[in-house]
Amino acid sequence: MQPLRCSECQAQVLVQKNSWEHTEVQWSAEARSRCREFGSASGPGRRPGAPVITCSAMEASLTRAAAEGLVEVLDDAPVPGPILQ
Ligand SMILES: [Zn+2]
Repeated sequence: MQPLRCSECQAQVLVQKNSWEHTEVQWSAEARSRCREFGSASGPGRRPGAPVITCSAMEASLTRAAAEGLVEVLDDAPVPGPILQ
């Protein structure tokens, strides 16, 4: 795993990208408390009360870092079609 910093909240997490569509993110307690989005009970497009388990800014940072080669993608096989989540 390697460290990655969220561009929005500066929370630092550990990430490992097994493939383009499979990412593991490890949030430390400090990162959790730093991030505005992580763990907040409400957010855009979420059911009320549903816990947020990631941060959209962090995801964007991660996608950009992977595209720029800053985060290593272990299985670099091309994904058929766009990734829709
Ligand atoms: Zn964040």
